[in-house]
Amino acid sequence: MTEVNFHPNLVRFAERTRGMTASEIRALFAVASRPEIVSLAGGMPSIDSLDHASVAEISRHIITDHGGVALQYGGGQGHEPLRDRLVEVMAAEGIPAHADEIVVTTGGQQALDLVAKLFLDPGDIVLAEGPSYVGALGAFASYEADVRQVPMDAEGMRPDLLAEELQALARAGRRPKFLYTVPNHQNPAGVSMSHRRRQDLADLCAREDILILEDNPYGLLDFKAEVRTSLRALVPERVLYIGTLSKILSPGIRVGWIVAPGAVREKLILLKEAADLCQSNLTQMVAERWIATEDWEGQVASFREAYRERCEAMLEELERELPASCRWSVPTGGFFVWVELPKAIDARELLAKALSERVAYVPGAAFYAAEGGENHLRLSFCYPTPERIREGVRRLAKVLRAEIELVDALYGGSQ
Ligand code: PMP
Repeated sequence: MTEVNFHPNLVRFAERTRGMTASEIRALFAVASRPEIVSLAGGMPSIDSLDHASVAEISRHIITDHGGVALQYGGGQGHEPLRDRLVEVMAAEGIPAHADEIVVTTGGQQALDLVAKLFLDPGDIVLAEGPSYVGALGAFASYEADVRQVPMDAEGMRPDLLAEELQALARAGRRPKFLYTVPNHQNPAGVSMSHRRRQDLADLCAREDILILEDNPYGLLDFKAEVRTSLRALVPERVLYIGTLSKILSPGIRVGWIVAPGAVREKLILLKEAADLCQSNLTQMVAERWIATEDWEGQVASFREAYRERCEAMLEELERELPASCRWSVPTGGFFVWVELPKAIDARELLAKALSERVAYVPGAAFYAAEGGENHLRLSFCYPTPERIREGVRRLAKVLRAEIELVDALYGGSQ
């Protein structure tokens, strides 16, 4: 049967969906999933590094012995025994929380959506790092937020520029609804906020009365297992904290969570119920048993080791192959390297050429709500093998060298 189309008179979209269009990047990604292409684009965890047999065994046990609960609807706040385990997961990073404060969500992504739905009216201001996680920008945009991004350096968001932005907002009689940050191994910049910056940010937000939305999917994936102080640990009374099992267990399990105080939590539970009634009991129970019975910290250590090896391969190859006019972040954990190209090169325009050389990346502009990041790109080292990563970087370097030569020939300098 051929696809049926609706008559245009039937399709009267809500006003807020007006800016929502699939980017040209999505079309290019259809090409990027071809096997001959080395994709340094997606952020897919290395699921091969997970012990699948243990998850299979736990799943079988849950369905066989607890199917009556696992296959039924559950509560809107999430499975209580799992919430107890999530407290243990957070404790591994020194993040204080109680099971009653947690709302379980469909990954960290739904947590971002629910927080945005709860706080944002059209035109409301959200402060964020520049660049920022594209999925958070999408969630904020779908509630028509005005996202102001504050540039980062190697220590995280620049406090001087944040203070400037706040002064400009105050002069205009505006206050941000919240400040969104990924303090550990940020997506896409691959940067972790320094301890001093965390303290300064916490102090500034306390002085200015700003709510902080702390999103922490990568905190446990530090290559040296270093633990950094969370903003929630510094100023629990002004932080909404988002966690996820996607990067330490599996994204297919779809378990994330929000830690929120009473009044906020009650509304979040109502929104969660309105979105999907409840989280899957089945995957929550599998996650709970996995944390309770497996050496989950050992599993995290083997993920960490896999990513460290891949990151090393990427950095070595970047060093060897990329033209001297390019710069990149040197991550200490997480999934991503952020590459800066000479100013005259637009990473979005270059993508088609990269794909024809069989390598994919995400152009930097995707991580900005307005303009920015045009001469940047994000490389992820989480999914391909080290050999494929090296091959991908070599292909990318070839494209970049040719482009830089072309720009130099045309304009007499690519800077
Ligand atoms: N926040 C950040 C910074 C991320 O990188 C991701 C995943 N790429 C998420 C949230 C959401 O992940 P999930 O929904 O799988 O928990």
